[in-house]
Amino acid sequence: MQKIRAAVCHEFGAPLEHRRGRPLPTPGPASWRCKLAACAVCHSDIFYAQGAWGGYLPAIYGHEAAGHVTRVGAGVIDYAEGDTVLVTFMRSCGQCASCATGHPGTCQKPRKYHEGPLALADGTPAEQGLGSGCFAEKVVVEPSQIVKLPDDLPLDVASTLACGVITGVGAVVNTAGLRPGQDVRGDRRGRRRAERHPGRAAGRRPRIVAVDMTEEKLAIARDFGATDGVLATEEKPWRAAKAMGRGADAVFVTVGAIPAYDTRCAIWPRRASW
Ligand SMILES: [Zn+2]
Ligand SMILES: [Zn+2]
Repeated sequence: MQKIRAAVCHEFGAPLEHRRGRPLPTPGPASWRCKLAACAVCHSDIFYAQGAWGGYLPAIYGHEAAGHVTRVGAGVIDYAEGDTVLVTFMRSCGQCASCATGHPGTCQKPRKYHEGPLALADGTPAEQGLGSGCFAEKVVVEPSQIVKLPDDLPLDVASTLACGVITGVGAVVNTAGLRPGQDVRGDRRGRRRAERHPGRAAGRRPRIVAVDMTEEKLAIARDFGATDGVLATEEKPWRAAKAMGRGADAVFVTVGAIPAYDTRCAIWPRRASW
């Protein structure tokens, strides 16, 4: 069996090391092995690699990827070898209380990811970061973690669907519960997360006011569906935002910047999500 190459975190805060590890095991029943074509870098991966959230080392992070199925476990009927798929960190057992009540994102099944399929060449177990370990050539994942993709979708773009896009969509549809006709404001101060622009996912044409630090980023926001833009660098930017309409039914802050949260409360106190 071929050993897989991966970017391994041996020490928090140190550069990842490209290593060949132990070959991946043959996928068991109801699991898949996928060869990856692209993996986005989520800030959660960076936080983990910096040690902000602790965890087991060595570890292989990466949790939003796309590729092709290369081996299917016994009894698998949903997917076939060669299928183009998305690989996500969202694992759900389908049987616990959260899964049974329609909340697979908070699946309660206990898992020990350092007891998963990954190990270094010398046999040392490696953490399968966020249950994925996608900073690697191949992964073995569970049924809930892959979704078939159209063959004509570029895989580097598709990979962002596995975390960044669904995070934004979940905030709009599940957390804020937006309905057609409601107005929103997306505050992205300083970070290019265009996929998180709310509103488009709910299938309507609301007023979407983007707030950011530069004209360049506001222009990008408009490309992704924002109807209006406000520079957060203006003094009391909420005045310009409010002048555009009736305020907002929900506010989405997509960065961890304290001024963005404070401003969000000052502008539209009715409701806020992030
Ligand atoms: Zn992520
Ligand atoms: Zn579950």
